[in-house]
Amino acid sequence: MTSVYEHYGLKPVINASGRMTILGVSTPGAAVVEAVNDGLSHYFEMKDLVDKTGAYIAGLLGCEDALVVSCASAGIAQSVAAVIARDDDWLLDNLHSAPLSVPHEIVLPKGHNVNFGAPVGTMVALGGGRLVEAGYANECSPAQLAAAVTASTAAILYIKSHHCVQKSHLSVAQAAAVAREHGVPLIVDAAAEEDLQAYYAAGADLVIYSGAKAIEGPTSGLVVGRQRHIAWVKRQSQGIGRAMKVGKEGILGLTRAVEEYLQQEKVSGAAMVEKMTPFIAQLNGLHGVQARVVWDSAGRDIARTEIHLDEAAIGRSTAALVQALKEGRPAIYFRGYKANEGIVEVDVRSVSAEQLHTLYLAIASLLTGEHQG
Ligand SMILES: *Cc1c(COP(=O)(O)O)cnc(C)c1O
Repeated sequence: MTSVYEHYGLKPVINASGRMTILGVSTPGAAVVEAVNDGLSHYFEMKDLVDKTGAYIAGLLGCEDALVVSCASAGIAQSVAAVIARDDDWLLDNLHSAPLSVPHEIVLPKGHNVNFGAPVGTMVALGGGRLVEAGYANECSPAQLAAAVTASTAAILYIKSHHCVQKSHLSVAQAAAVAREHGVPLIVDAAAEEDLQAYYAAGADLVIYSGAKAIEGPTSGLVVGRQRHIAWVKRQSQGIGRAMKVGKEGILGLTRAVEEYLQQEKVSGAAMVEKMTPFIAQLNGLHGVQARVVWDSAGRDIARTEIHLDEAAIGRSTAALVQALKEGRPAIYFRGYKANEGIVEVDVRSVSAEQLHTLYLAIASLLTGEHQG
């Protein structure tokens, strides 16, 4: 049997960059694949499927209600639409057909106005919201957040992510206190986060996760929250949500993935360190290369290998090396966020020990080739 790579002439990939949308995010386990298959092979009353799986997930997570959506971005857009339209039938049908007279400003800390692969602001606009930034690029206190809340505010949006500015920014619990004080809902985008309970417990009304990232489900998203707010989000399946429809396979696949995720023994950062230790030792044997363990900047229990390249010694830029590895066969993808500082990071979660060795050989041959050439 030919592989899917051969059949379509696709390039094999080693993913050392983490849960990246541009590489297909993650590879769900057998139980999830089976649940997706079950979904594809049967008919359901879809409302029944949506309600029962949502209640089931909510039971597992200890929140009031939950809903599977097509991805976290869709979760943001539909949550924004939900807090604007609420129970209003006319607004459900006419969210974008006339200027809104109901509150539709979405207040978010300026340091959270990020591009996660697409801009947060685009998802807010899809949901009918108008983004209002609070604080500054380098700071947002509870008082600065509160100062941006007015009678036109529909919700506060908090992005819990490594993409965001971390320093001098308030916590989810502090944002929840501001939201409560002003009587507006708090939406938390925790798309890539690993804790499925903390932000709801900290007081968020809606929390959004990406189904294929930490949870390792199929392409999907999860919205958990208070019963009233989730009911508003569900209504959007007859509004903007229809353009982001999630299928029965995604709903059952993600529900199963959440079950598996909660049961599985989590791979600890310490185990990641153990896996990468021989790799780091090998890299440190290369001229112009320094490798070490670094911990996730957003505080998750994830260890990565940081490779610092002495560009003068290796005779090329970090960006050029990263590009050459992407163009190789198999294509090798690192985390390149700091390539401009001469640093690349290796996320070992989706990489086997053998693949780490392949990675080392690819780097060594590129660097040695350069020296001899
Ligand atoms: C990945 C990500 C998203 C988007 O998730 P999708 O499921 O791919 O739509 C949104 N916000 C943040 C912070 C992310 O990391």
